[in-house]
Amino acid sequence: MPGMAKSPVLTPRSEDFPRWYQELVGKAELAENGPVRGTMVIRPYGYAIWERMQQGMDARIKDAGAQNAYFPLLIPQSYMTKEAEHVEGFSPELAVVTHGGGKELEEPAVIRPTSETIINDHFSRWIQSYRDLPLLINQWANVVRWEMRPRLFLRTSEFLWQEGHTAHATYEEARDFAARIHRRVYEDFMTEVLAIDVVPGRKTARERFAGALNTLTLEAMMGDGKALQMGTSHELGQNFARAFGTRYLSREGGREYVWQTSWGSTTRMVGAMVMAHGDDDGLRLPPRLAPVQAVVLAVKGDEAVLAKVREVTDALRAAGIRAQADDRTDTPFGRRAVDWELKGVPVRIEIGPRDLEREPEHGGTAMLVRRVRGGKEPVRADALPGLLPDLLEEEQGLLLRQSRELRESRTSDVRTIEEAAEAATAGGWARIPWSVLGPEGEEKLAERSVTVRCLVAEDGTVPETDDAPGNLAVVARAY
Ligand code: AMP
Repeated sequence: MPGMAKSPVLTPRSEDFPRWYQELVGKAELAENGPVRGTMVIRPYGYAIWERMQQGMDARIKDAGAQNAYFPLLIPQSYMTKEAEHVEGFSPELAVVTHGGGKELEEPAVIRPTSETIINDHFSRWIQSYRDLPLLINQWANVVRWEMRPRLFLRTSEFLWQEGHTAHATYEEARDFAARIHRRVYEDFMTEVLAIDVVPGRKTARERFAGALNTLTLEAMMGDGKALQMGTSHELGQNFARAFGTRYLSREGGREYVWQTSWGSTTRMVGAMVMAHGDDDGLRLPPRLAPVQAVVLAVKGDEAVLAKVREVTDALRAAGIRAQADDRTDTPFGRRAVDWELKGVPVRIEIGPRDLEREPEHGGTAMLVRRVRGGKEPVRADALPGLLPDLLEEEQGLLLRQSRELRESRTSDVRTIEEAAEAATAGGWARIPWSVLGPEGEEKLAERSVTVRCLVAEDGTVPETDDAPGNLAVVARAY
């Protein structure tokens, strides 16, 4: 009924953000909890979003020169212990298999929490001379980290990811490759496809990956002002190479350890779509990512309407748009409209009996509803395939702008640790000079569950060292 307020489908975000998130993930049919605590069942719609992420990321990873391969899920326990920091960092999160085929195993196997160790074991045989370098490998896989405070997509005990592992002849080459993945693969994908205004930076020593010299990160602001780490790219130096004997014969004839990188991004990004772009009506998917960019709804089930719905859907598909027909007219129209809104489909096209009679020389009309910009407008049916590509790009741009505006409006520059803590606990980000905060201040903030998300240079670039003059620490509460 026009003018009547809709009864809310979800708890409003302002009332209870975590509850809103949980309800949305369930009602939009993205995922649900598995029977073992921390595990997750990804439902078809959630998985379709992940598949679109995989496609966009995979193309960029291959552009950077890496090839896909696959390594085993089970890793001999002794491998994990070879790199001291790595084992210390991951021990509390390891799942260990002790029995197989009804017998106790001679050596327990860990379920991979990440694959540096097993991959190095094989790299040490694949790499003989400088001619074998650089070696650039990526794998799409699942990993297990026994998480104490799991949350669907954001922090699960088993998650899906890509993990890249590379070996180079020099420190500089490895450093440049880690940076290339950070900016040209991850940042590019996250801004251009996910429409999230991520902040690229480096982690402090406290937050660094276990066994790395340097960790590069991308941090995003969620709808409640908290931060989410979207992906990381590590410079591993020669730590794993030394532990596994990964050496090459140099041009000069010496036996040198390789320099390595590793980098990962996960199903957490699906959760980021919800938390960064979602509103009180549900998800809002950026069109470049959305598995369904336009849904064409039959308002009523008469034959002429259904035929028109099919015709419009086919025309949109022919124009390269990911369109889907909704002819489930046994379900009330209002319920279906709300459902597509929940699922964040960028454009809804509604066709009813009266639309067929209007502008017959243009194949009738349809009602066009935009998820991000909002508003409803009648359009000629035959104009839709021509109209939609630009309109979808507009929606894409609008989401990125809103993401940037949110971050800018909720980030403040401060001079003291107290101010930084206050800004973060009030649901925002603060930038504070690293020379003021330092590792001690970082510990003090941690007592209040506020962490340094990353260090950035004053001009927004990524600093080469923690203590470079002018470094700013971006601090926030994080998921
Ligand atoms: P790491 O190998 O620890 O650098 O992790 C790579 C990326 O995985 C991080 O940047 C996070 O975005 C993501 N991540 C870490 N732990 C989890 C988890 N339990 N569930 C989902 N994503 C995760």
